[in-house]
Amino acid sequence: MERALNSPELERFAKEFAANPAYRLAQNAVTKTSIDDVALDRAVVTSIDHSVSHLLDDWGVTNQKKSGRCWLFAGLNLLRVGAAQRMGLKDFEFSQNYLLFWDKLEKANHWLEAMIETAERDVDDRTVAHLLNAPTDDGGQWNMFVALVRKHGLVPKVAMPETQSSAETHRMNRGLGRVLRRAARDLRARAAAGEDAEQLREAKSEAVAAVYRILAIHLGTPPERFWWQWMDKDRGFHRDGELTPQEFAERYITIPLDDYVCIVHDPRASSRIGQTYTVEYLGNVVGAPPVVYLNVEMDLMKSLARDAITGGEPVWFGCDTDKMSNLELGLWDAGLYDYSAVYDADLSMTKAERLVHHETLMTHAMLFTGVDVVDGLARRWRVENSWGDEKADKGYWTMNDSWFGEHVFEIAVSRDVLSEELQAALDVEPIVLPAWDPMGALAGLDGHEAKVVDAVPTGLFIGGDWRSAEDGRQLSVEDPATTEVIAEVADASVADGTAALDAAVAAAPTWAATPPRDRGEILRRAYELITERADDLSLLMTLEMGKPLKESKSEITYGAEFFRWFSEEAVRIAGRYSVAPNGATRLLTMKQPVGPCLMITPWNFPLAMGTRKIGPAVAAGCTMVIKPAALTPLSMLALADILTQAGLPPGVLNVLTTSSTGKVMEPLIRDPRLRKLTFTGSTEVGRTLVAQSAQGLLRVSMELGGNAPFLVFADADVDAAVEGAMLAKMRNVGEACTAANRFLVHESLADEFIAKLAQRMSDLRVGRGTEDGVDVGPLVEEKQRDKVAELVDDAVEAGATVATGGNAPDRTGWFYTPTVLSDVPPRARMFREEIFGPVAPVFTFADDDEAVAMANDTEFGLVAYAFTRDVSRALNVAERLETGMVGLNQGIVSNPSAPFGGVKASGFGREGGAEGIEEYLETKYVGLKL
Ligand code: NAP
Repeated sequence: MERALNSPELERFAKEFAANPAYRLAQNAVTKTSIDDVALDRAVVTSIDHSVSHLLDDWGVTNQKKSGRCWLFAGLNLLRVGAAQRMGLKDFEFSQNYLLFWDKLEKANHWLEAMIETAERDVDDRTVAHLLNAPTDDGGQWNMFVALVRKHGLVPKVAMPETQSSAETHRMNRGLGRVLRRAARDLRARAAAGEDAEQLREAKSEAVAAVYRILAIHLGTPPERFWWQWMDKDRGFHRDGELTPQEFAERYITIPLDDYVCIVHDPRASSRIGQTYTVEYLGNVVGAPPVVYLNVEMDLMKSLARDAITGGEPVWFGCDTDKMSNLELGLWDAGLYDYSAVYDADLSMTKAERLVHHETLMTHAMLFTGVDVVDGLARRWRVENSWGDEKADKGYWTMNDSWFGEHVFEIAVSRDVLSEELQAALDVEPIVLPAWDPMGALAGLDGHEAKVVDAVPTGLFIGGDWRSAEDGRQLSVEDPATTEVIAEVADASVADGTAALDAAVAAAPTWAATPPRDRGEILRRAYELITERADDLSLLMTLEMGKPLKESKSEITYGAEFFRWFSEEAVRIAGRYSVAPNGATRLLTMKQPVGPCLMITPWNFPLAMGTRKIGPAVAAGCTMVIKPAALTPLSMLALADILTQAGLPPGVLNVLTTSSTGKVMEPLIRDPRLRKLTFTGSTEVGRTLVAQSAQGLLRVSMELGGNAPFLVFADADVDAAVEGAMLAKMRNVGEACTAANRFLVHESLADEFIAKLAQRMSDLRVGRGTEDGVDVGPLVEEKQRDKVAELVDDAVEAGATVATGGNAPDRTGWFYTPTVLSDVPPRARMFREEIFGPVAPVFTFADDDEAVAMANDTEFGLVAYAFTRDVSRALNVAERLETGMVGLNQGIVSNPSAPFGGVKASGFGREGGAEGIEEYLETKYVGLKL
């Protein structure tokens, strides 16, 4: 077999590659951007229109989250159509968690039975090894779905709602896997010791009991009976009273489930058309009818799917979803990507060859809910996915017919639509395929949120490499709306911190000498990449930080703009040449990069607070170590990935994520090789950092807390002021340093202003930031939510009146209801403390002097807002306000092309604008005698 790669051969490969301009072009493109973007066939994309001639769905999609329950979702999505109609509901969901519970328990029993049956075989036997590989995967098949519903019935979602583990199954599966593999070990040992099958089954029962416990702990206990009543879409009230799951299923399943059979298209030479197949050890409910596939021609499968849809019924199907698929567009087409052209390699294989050579298998199940028929033939299919409504057409995908032929494997249809011959074939004993046959693959792919999170690198980014923390530790990232852990990222130690600074120091000289245009181009490319990926980045941000998607999107735009702005500033760094006043010498000044910087950013703008620092540092030629907040590290990690793709050389940017913030940061701040510290965060931490930096006389920028006054003068346009107030208060759910913290309103306007603001605030919709139409997401963590509640309670105790809100809704997640408080006395804590939440306290004043005095009566000085129609009053007040920024008749000041920063306890230094880059430049003067 041996023939090692030899030098002439390797030389030939390299030479051939270098000689071909098309390869070099492909390399240039693919080293900078994703192969999918390069290979995407524009003709296919532009030829698509998503309408179909026969459309069934008018309901919202479901979301299987981070689980492989697609087959259960697709099955229940099929059944809910008739159930919703029967109940007169527009949207209805059965509990997916309920079926998940029973599927796992039944599968565990099924698997242990297989273990008993194979106990005599060697562990390396292919079947045993295959079984041990995956004891209780999430996936399943049509017949397994039917078996569950038949045995355990159904319940509405409210009777057994989702849990953390049903939405994210991997930890539960890990526990189940461990219990089951251990049980397998014991069963095999008992069998080897001579116990018979009956004795082994006794032992098995204990293992199943443990599985039941684990499932009940993770998913809750499935109800044996539940109460069912509902209000239909015409407001008619109905009550069924107490039902068992079986009774509920009996009442609301509107299709003859037992008559449905699964037809497949398996074109392998070994698989005969008109023959039934089953797969060894595939199933969940022991004793239920086996998983049976009837192999048919593709044309028949398509026409049966078409007929079902045009007849008014959605169709359950299974496919290999990842092939030739585009998540953004929600599109499948057999020729969507021209990988062959990019690689100059023939990648063609038939469907049969792909099955035989492990290139494909069934990975996902969904529902057809529409078809576009032209001259009797299906041209395009509409698909209800279960990956939420963020992508595609509100969660509905488009499948071109070319893709159906290549990548769809099975559909479930009513037996009576088959020819007599095929119906007879169904009664013939199926051929048993081995357990590892691709037809035995279980449809079970994760949802979109999981994909977006999973795409983010989770290591430390040091010297251009992604690596684990030196001691292997990780920290968890939670979704504040669900309190679920969504990711684990590396948790840096002190040694990792030093390694990151080493990398920044090592890269500094070369980077400082890199042409400004090159540095600018990298920023520009990164700006474009962020803009292209804005949807996924926004979702990521919402998942880790909580704010609504529209807020995340505007942060992505704002954050990206710093890169565009500083890409243009990079080439405008200039010096000066002048003659000394006495004419004796010449004065030359030059700007040079400061050197390695340490950047510490907060959680409230996980991306923009980083780009506001990274942009000017890259433009100026500085290298850097950045540390995002432990609560929201994912956006920064995604950004590092993007900057790498944009061509940023190794070591220029290093990212540390850590839960030991102070311990890891302090040695870096005290390290003499560090030249600058730039911090955005609370005043309290800022003070500590300034103290730490004093020893080394480090250059420091501090963007600290705020306590913004929002002044409404007697001559203001109240509606415009309320509009501005909504922006100034509710941008970022109030979690902004620039958030209006104190509304100071002239006493003549106070009642009108409060009434209108309270109305607007109470109209806001509170909910998970990923949901459509949500205005107010959760606060970032429990501590933050409790602090907001505490400040409101304090104000109320001090005499304030609640005009709207004033409480935390009773639901999972760190939510606080939008709140307006009137009659707030200045002694209330919120007059002096940053609220950082959706709470607007209104204070009143009598004249301009009092207004300015109240506005300045705080240690903070970041921003102030003033609403007046009188220009001279506006400028007069702007001059007297002790803040770094003033918004006149506008509720937002953040702008990448303007200098952002504060005075007093809000810090020093400016970010953005022409001033922003100065923070990263030193001025050197050279005296020159001619
Ligand atoms: P924070 O608690 O001060 O934290 C900010 C950053 O500092 C985080 O990365 C945090 O890390 C880190 N940190 C905490 N203790 C540290 C220590 N001893 N040594 C070194 N780093 C340390 O503030 P936050 O709660 O995240 O953010 C909210 C604050 O930021 C508010 O006061 C807001 O006004 C201010 N802010 C100001 C601006 C501005 O431009 N002026 C902009 C946005 C926010 P961990 O969280 O990982 O521990």
